[in-house]
Amino acid sequence: MSRLSELNTGEKGVIVKIQGHGGFRKRIIEMGFLQGKTVEVVHKAPLQDPVEYQILGYHVSLRRKEASQIEVISVEEAEHLAAEHNPVTGNFTPTCIGCKEAGCKFREGIQKTTEEEDALYRGAREKSKEITVALVGNPNCGKTSLFNKASGSHQRVGNYSGVTVDAVKGKMYYRGYRFTLIDLPGTYSISAYSPEEKYVRHTIINDKPDVILNVVDSSNLERNLFLTTQLIDMNLRMVIALNMYDELEHHGDVLDYKELERLLGVPMIPTVSVSGRGIPSLFDTIIDIYEEGDTVSSTDASGKYPTAETSRQTRRGGRQKADKNGDVRGILKHIHINHGSIIERSIDRIREEIYKNPNAMDEYTPRYIAIRILQHDKEIEKVLDSFSNKKEILSVRDKEAESIEKELGETPENAIMDAKYGFIDGALRETYRRGERKPGKTRTEKIDNIVTSRWLGFPIFFIAMYLIFQATFTLGQYPMDWIEAGVNALGEYIGSAMKDGWLKDLLVDGIITGVGGVLVFLPNILILFFFISILEASGYMARAAFIMDKIMHLFGLHGRSFIPLMMGFGCNVPAVMATRTIENRNARMITILINPLMSCNARLPIYLLLAGIFFPKSAGLVIFCIYLGGVLLAALMAKLFSKFLFNSDETPFVMELPPYRIPTWKSLLRDTWDKGKQYLKKIATIILIGTLIVWALSYFPTCDPDPAARLQHSYLAAIGNFIAPALSPIGFHWQESVSLLSGMAAKEIVVSTMNMLYTVNGNLVIGQVLTPAVALAFMVFTLIYFPCIATIGAIKTETGSWKWAVFTVCYTLCLAWIVSFIVSKAFAFL
Ligand code: GDP
Ligand code: MG
Repeated sequence: MSRLSELNTGEKGVIVKIQGHGGFRKRIIEMGFLQGKTVEVVHKAPLQDPVEYQILGYHVSLRRKEASQIEVISVEEAEHLAAEHNPVTGNFTPTCIGCKEAGCKFREGIQKTTEEEDALYRGAREKSKEITVALVGNPNCGKTSLFNKASGSHQRVGNYSGVTVDAVKGKMYYRGYRFTLIDLPGTYSISAYSPEEKYVRHTIINDKPDVILNVVDSSNLERNLFLTTQLIDMNLRMVIALNMYDELEHHGDVLDYKELERLLGVPMIPTVSVSGRGIPSLFDTIIDIYEEGDTVSSTDASGKYPTAETSRQTRRGGRQKADKNGDVRGILKHIHINHGSIIERSIDRIREEIYKNPNAMDEYTPRYIAIRILQHDKEIEKVLDSFSNKKEILSVRDKEAESIEKELGETPENAIMDAKYGFIDGALRETYRRGERKPGKTRTEKIDNIVTSRWLGFPIFFIAMYLIFQATFTLGQYPMDWIEAGVNALGEYIGSAMKDGWLKDLLVDGIITGVGGVLVFLPNILILFFFISILEASGYMARAAFIMDKIMHLFGLHGRSFIPLMMGFGCNVPAVMATRTIENRNARMITILINPLMSCNARLPIYLLLAGIFFPKSAGLVIFCIYLGGVLLAALMAKLFSKFLFNSDETPFVMELPPYRIPTWKSLLRDTWDKGKQYLKKIATIILIGTLIVWALSYFPTCDPDPAARLQHSYLAAIGNFIAPALSPIGFHWQESVSLLSGMAAKEIVVSTMNMLYTVNGNLVIGQVLTPAVALAFMVFTLIYFPCIATIGAIKTETGSWKWAVFTVCYTLCLAWIVSFIVSKAFAFL
């Protein structure tokens, strides 16, 4: 499928669908751009904009931006599709896609079609059976569960906000339609404050999904519907899934959702996404809304937009349509959320000024632009750049904002928000009755009373963390030994079976020793992530953030920083990505910058190796201190950053405490395995390649059969000797310098390099070369110095600039040097 704007002069296309918001579609359809009609490009203006088209025998001109929202296929494709599908779906009664009004002037035209036009129409119909649906909703309302159930995907489900940080696409087929589902990150509103909100709006406006599926947590309607009111402002084709309807029923609440859907002008379907209840009728409704074109005409007889009130009145006497189940469902009208006369008057005035532009309707409705700029939405103000009267619009805005502030005694931002909540409150008062809660406390309340209590909260938290780390290492020891034995056996077998030479050395010393040394940690990683999955899915992770909030604030962070920091112990890459849930930019930046100080599991092998050799009796304690040291340094750096780099006000802590839920085995195991798979993939790619490079640098150019001599004159030694002077004050030799350097690709490679460099005749000789103090300093250096390439990349992506990525590399390197130097001198007595 291509866009009308992509056709060249003289080319023809058959219209498949019109995208964009309701007002835009209506206008384009009124110009005659109907499904199945042929459009020809007659003439392009010198600058390619606007373009003159011929349709229905008329000449019309469209601007590029408008034409880019019209999807077309070639005449040949339409004919082909029509021929292919004729026998099965040949029983159309052609209607125009925009409306089904009896008096529609195009309707009659369509009915008198020639056979050829009819075929093109059928071809376009067939092509239009591809529906893109974007799932939009609050965090934790069950979007991903619904997405998985519908599309059969296996996305991560978590019981705390912010598990989904990226959009995921899935496909499904239903009733002859091909659906593309987009699972978007959860947001409480679309105000473009947090990166997620920006991302969601960006996707809605640029990817132009055909239908928005607003997923709503029915057990928490008031807050969830706020986002809905914002979506209504955008005038998009939308269906609401009243998800977690089982919980609403379980509480004994009663919701007259038929009435609520009328009040909001959006169809609603109760669903339970974990069991799949309601999902078929949800998709039936999506198809209806899509085929319906729009929620009918947008103006009533008086020429005014209907409000919830008038829309309900007209519907009482209005048309109704029976669906397949014999259910009679009123055709819903798009409504305007009524913000009260003062704000509405201001919106109208700004809207009038916006209307003076020819391109006022392109992406957003003028009403939406008016509402948003009244709230000083910087992104929408940017949209005005293409308007000739930007100055005038903004000056009307300023005047209106001032008068709202004077009359209502509130900033327009707050006044509009209050009005929206007021609207929701009114709608719910009419439709929702809270059931008698059973006497006594709910399970969640009972658990929370203990887990988040003043005295027990912290001990429980720390005990939980301690147990998890303990289990990770003690349980992990057994499979670790097996893997190690397997790797050794394999090395010996190959060593004895092969002829001496560089190939054997490559296999045994390079690949098996290097990669095998990393593979042994797979069990640890699986166990750790299994526990983290339990914490996430049960809902405890959210409590952990809640408990930690106060402490986090001491360092200029946010309760929500806690989860990304915690995740940093696993891997800094997803951890840096998970910071997207932090709304406050300062807290978010600091969380990103200090994240590398959270010792990721790639560094663990180094500690295990060195602590095992130098501190055999107290290895656990040493490793614990290293981790703790990382945390303390992170706290210190956070404090410094918040003081000197990011010091402005902070947003209040809003973090949901979702009800406790028992995680399902299936999702736990899937999560854990996903992590394991990522680790294996990393081993098979970046670690393998890094190891090979390091091996080659250590083997060539001499290829001396004596390993020690070979190494002494290798390229690696040359590089190591070059940087060694910088690190020698700490007590590092060139071997350590090289190992650290090799860790740039992935920190696991530090250990494989160490293993290679210090293995003499099959024996590890580190113990004879380093002193305990230097070994400790080396662990500390590994903890602090710059993160691996993948993390640096993630920092660049998430902060939006190389500046912060480079900054992170520099500050961690300096810090690593200083702290290691101190450690190696301070513990020289060991
Ligand atoms: P998202 O953040 O919106 O993607 O939400 P998730 O799909 O990750 O779900 C959050 C939690 O709610 C998970 O623990 C789900 O198992 C649970 N959940 C999702 N849908 C339902 C539902 O309809 N009923 C109930 N009782 N739980 C649900
Ligand atoms: Mg999700």
